[in-house]
Amino acid sequence: MSWLDQLQTGLDQAAAEGLQRRLRTLEGPSRPDGVLDGKPLTQFASNNYLGLASHPRVVAAAQAAAARWGAGSGASPLIAGHQAVHRQLEEALASHKGAEAALVYAAGSLANLGCLSVLPGEDGQVLLDKLVHATLYDGARLSGAAITRFPHQDLGRLKALLGQARAAGAHRVVVAVDAVYSMDGDIAPLPQLLALAAAHDAILVVDEAHSTGVLGAHGRGLLEHFGILGWPECLVLTGTLSKALGSQGGFVAGPRAVIDTLVNRSRSYIYATALAAPAAAAALESLAVIEQEPQHLARLWANTRAVAAGLAALGWSTAPSQTPILPVTVGPAAQALALQQRLLDAGYFVPAIRPPTVPANACRLRLSLTAEHQSRHWEGLLKALGAKP
Ligand SMILES: *Cc1c(COP(=O)(O)O)cnc(C)c1O
Repeated sequence: MSWLDQLQTGLDQAAAEGLQRRLRTLEGPSRPDGVLDGKPLTQFASNNYLGLASHPRVVAAAQAAAARWGAGSGASPLIAGHQAVHRQLEEALASHKGAEAALVYAAGSLANLGCLSVLPGEDGQVLLDKLVHATLYDGARLSGAAITRFPHQDLGRLKALLGQARAAGAHRVVVAVDAVYSMDGDIAPLPQLLALAAAHDAILVVDEAHSTGVLGAHGRGLLEHFGILGWPECLVLTGTLSKALGSQGGFVAGPRAVIDTLVNRSRSYIYATALAAPAAAAALESLAVIEQEPQHLARLWANTRAVAAGLAALGWSTAPSQTPILPVTVGPAAQALALQQRLLDAGYFVPAIRPPTVPANACRLRLSLTAEHQSRHWEGLLKALGAKP
């Protein structure tokens, strides 16, 4: 069999199992109402939580930055790609998160790869929550350190593993979790995680992709959500500019020594062209909008509460979600796809999530809310969904 035939066989097999993935194309910006694959639809699928991707101030900042700094940065950061707008954004992110310093990557996924590939060291031990984002796991693999995954949110198991790692003389121990789990919408118990990490002299890396701009009274993230004042010594944050901040790119925030080490050692930073200035400027403006226009965050949470209540009234559980990510678990892939199709036929796009992203028996529709959704959007969706059979 030729290698192309081998690839095709793999694709055919995935299709037969209902696991084939294909691209859908959206005309226009990421908003609740749009045209997807030529069909007018209302979507509950984006991570544009605050609607900032097309906020006039954010768009204007990107346009002005293109005129001032160019469409592309022209080089990797250490060569000649680190522009004044990156420096400003790094200072704004550090201040937003309450960190000593921050570093802007070309993507959140690259920030995760960079952070996890460097911090443990080859002789280290990485302990990952089983449901962390794929890029934290991939970064840990690049580090060469030993990797152990612990059951989701199982603090007892984590404590035991931390003790074992210390007893075995691991050089550095890194614990990595998501602030908000992207498929379940539940929140990491930061105070307990910090206490465990501190007690075992471990580094705690928290991926703030879905909490930045979303959690805390001012959208500052997980620390604000738990009312933790001051920077915990063992903490390093990673995150993306591409979700609530409505732009593109990623960051790491933490102690200055961490940031300087990443500048020197992190291959996904050193060997990637610096983020394009329009994306950096858009994220910078979004941080200002988040502080100055609290109405977007208030609407996001009001919408989330309304839809969660509407689903519950129809018998659909969204447990364990505590956030605008609402999983509606249906079971096998075929059932999730059938439900996705039924909603598509009614004019609503809610993506079905299948293996390998979630376990085979826990396929789900993943609803995500934004500040731009209105009651007319979800009332139609809930009607199309109907009561849980
Ligand atoms: C989206 C996401 C990322 C990746 O960020 P990008 O900027 O899209 O590369 C990392 N971690 C989590 C938890 C995410 O959901």
